[in-house]
Amino acid sequence: MRQQSIPVEQATPAFRLSHDVETNACVVSLPGPQYHPAFATGKNSDGANYWRQHIELGRFVEGALAGKLRFAPQVGRTLPLDVCAAYTDCWHCNETTGLVIDLCFAASRVLQGAADVMANIYDFDDEGRGAALLMSTLPAALLAHHGIGPIKPRYSRTEGQSYLSNGCVHCDALQGRFFDHEAAYDAQPVFSVDVLFDDRWLSHLEDREAIDKWWFDDRPAAHRGCGVAEEFRLMDGCY
Ligand SMILES: [Zn+2]
Repeated sequence: MRQQSIPVEQATPAFRLSHDVETNACVVSLPGPQYHPAFATGKNSDGANYWRQHIELGRFVEGALAGKLRFAPQVGRTLPLDVCAAYTDCWHCNETTGLVIDLCFAASRVLQGAADVMANIYDFDDEGRGAALLMSTLPAALLAHHGIGPIKPRYSRTEGQSYLSNGCVHCDALQGRFFDHEAAYDAQPVFSVDVLFDDRWLSHLEDREAIDKWWFDDRPAAHRGCGVAEEFRLMDGCY
């Protein structure tokens, strides 16, 4: 992993091997979302943020040969989608309204050590399938239950066009893009919905650093599977 010229991708799995002096064990580490070859060299290479999984070498080899290594493990799974919101006073009616700031596909809660995938509502602003997908996943009634206005296209005089936007839960006034709001820094997960993380979502997401990663499936054999058997388990909603 100190060889910056080696790409780490689906066709070229590459992992870090290190020796733990205290336990006299060799450990294989898998890169996490913050890993970048340029930063992961030299004396900073141990940074905890660069690595998501550490597996003893013997266990890693045994698991790799048994099909425990997966690329982009989130794809095709049902994942919790955490909706992070902040609350602010509407510029138009002065009432408090919630704004959806971040969307987080919380893969790590389903697949231990897998990377969470971050997004925001503007990733889905395509006046087509993306907007429809997000609006049907987060319908106005569900958002209103949490004091959040509907997500939908609204015309912005500032931008001279319509875009997928937050609006006031009371008067529906457009609330501007999240980076216009100081409240965005206080965003907290407010609720979660389960979504099938498939190409409908993937095609809109730019967080490839989190998606295009290798993952070591360390769950007990009874919870794993591959091929057809796994598809059936997924359909049953049980992994
Ligand atoms: Zn309002």
